[in-house]
Amino acid sequence: MKVRVNEDMCEGHGKCQAAAPGVFRLRDDDVSEVIVDEVPAADVEKVERAIRLCPRQAIAWVKPA
Ligand code: SF4
Repeated sequence: MKVRVNEDMCEGHGKCQAAAPGVFRLRDDDVSEVIVDEVPAADVEKVERAIRLCPRQAIAWVKPA
């Protein structure tokens, strides 16, 4: 599965990186980016947690086409 961050909504709180450090990284400009193409199975629950914790609802799974 793929996940994405809406950069226009992200306010850089970093909760996603704390929840799933193998998937999200806070850039120097305080916007989170996804650092994996496909989320490893072991990180899926962590990403679910990041989605719940994001105060801006900026994180979403990418639905397969
Ligand atoms: S938790 Fe949400 S608002 Fe905060 S850095 Fe991550 S994506 Fe951005």
